[in-house]
Amino acid sequence: MNITTYHKLLEKQAARMLTKELLDQEPVLKFLELINNSYNNFERDKKISEHAFSVSEKEYQQLALHLREQNHIRLQSIVKLKKAILALDPLASVHSGDNDDDDLINVISFLEEQIRKFKLLEAELIGAKESAEQAVKAKTDFLSVMSHEIRTPLNAIIGISHLLNREEHLPLQEENLNILSVSADNLFMLINDILDFAKIEEGKILFSEKNISLRRFVAGIKMANRTKAEEKGNSIKVLVDDDLPEYVKGDDLRLGQILNNLLSNANKFTSNGSIVMEVLLTRVLGEQVEVSFSVTDTGIGIEPSKQKIIFERFTQANSEITRQFGGSGLGLAIIKKLLNLQDSDIHVESEPGKGSKFYFSLLFRKGDGVVMQEPQQSSFHNGDLGGVKVLLVEDVEFNVLVAEKMLKIWNAVVEVSNNGKEAVKKARAVSYDIILMDLQMPEMDGLEATRLIRSATLPHQPVIIALTANTMEGDEEECLSAGMDDYLGKPVKLEEVIGKLRHWALNRRK
Ligand code: ADP
Repeated sequence: MNITTYHKLLEKQAARMLTKELLDQEPVLKFLELINNSYNNFERDKKISEHAFSVSEKEYQQLALHLREQNHIRLQSIVKLKKAILALDPLASVHSGDNDDDDLINVISFLEEQIRKFKLLEAELIGAKESAEQAVKAKTDFLSVMSHEIRTPLNAIIGISHLLNREEHLPLQEENLNILSVSADNLFMLINDILDFAKIEEGKILFSEKNISLRRFVAGIKMANRTKAEEKGNSIKVLVDDDLPEYVKGDDLRLGQILNNLLSNANKFTSNGSIVMEVLLTRVLGEQVEVSFSVTDTGIGIEPSKQKIIFERFTQANSEITRQFGGSGLGLAIIKKLLNLQDSDIHVESEPGKGSKFYFSLLFRKGDGVVMQEPQQSSFHNGDLGGVKVLLVEDVEFNVLVAEKMLKIWNAVVEVSNNGKEAVKKARAVSYDIILMDLQMPEMDGLEATRLIRSATLPHQPVIIALTANTMEGDEEECLSAGMDDYLGKPVKLEEVIGKLRHWALNRRK
């Protein structure tokens, strides 16, 4: 190796210190080579550490800049947080003078306190929600029990008052008997309204879709209200738009309930006047039609300030009216709810002393003309059951008395059982055409008795009709799935019982 290839410093030192002879000697050259390696290694390490230093210097600068920015953001955040907190709660103590760190601690403590409060509030809200749910359930249970308890004696009252009216009585008693009948009927309607309202409030209403001929439908409603209107010297006129489709699809029972209620109100608050029910086609939207209904009267009218509150439950325009005309103040509230559930609403225009107009619109799908068989109408007076064999299963003595009397008047052959167990025994021994079955009875209830009768091998299975004060949601389904054929909710109207009995007498089980 030539010394000119050595590290510059070593080259200089070797040239200066070593003679040519020495430089020709092998051991000297080896020694120099070793020193050259050390010089080179030192040089390389020096460069590496210099580079490393310059890199960390740069990183340090960047880091410092980043920290400054972060600190700025932190300070701004504290200011904003404080502003937000003071906007929420002007009395919150989030200031501590000029120390930002203390401010931050105050803000954090405030937020911690708020979180603690929110958690408490949340726990309270959950508790309140649970008790509200319990209260709703208690209300439903209460309604179910009370309606049963009220319906049972009411059934006897209504039945007896109808029977007394039919039986021979002194002319002097006529007025008392009428008051008894009307009061019992009113009580019956009130209980139905309360239960209906509760059902609607709980959202337990499903709307059916049947073909309705609106023309025939409103004519029927006019007929049903005609006698009452005549009693008060009112005329009822019905105007139906010629452009209406022949049939629409909708819930006839609920529509009937709404229109009957409006008509009965119009009649209640009008004397010697006129009532007009108008049905108009307002829009055609493809397969749907919008129909507007209105009931206008020339009665006492409603003060403007009262026109909104009458749609709230249990409210009436004034208490004097309540005393004079009666009513629960539930009718319009039910109408409003029924319409709201169908994306509609009820409206009123009225002038005191001149009259009122109630109106609403409903959307219907166009119908196809296939009308369900109307239930057979039958009146109390021509209700001859022509020797049909009936087993009456009922434990309440008064109810037995009333039902037995009615059935005998209609020429049925009646036997009575006071509980389900006895009814099963009788049904096995005797061939009945129809069994009228109460549900709640001692020893064995009506559902169990029905299942046993249905599972027995009999020459011919009787028609079984539930006769019960249980009229809450699901009761009817339960009866039918136990094997019953039909369902009558107490208190029963005589026309309804005779209608059902005649229908089933004609359509006995094969
Ligand atoms: P109710 O008739 O049983 O009291 P509603 O909810 O049907 O209950 O009616 C609430 C109130 O609205 C009535 O008490 C009466 O003051 C007023 N109202 C309803 N319809 C009419 C009407 N056609 N004319 C005058 N007032 C009416």
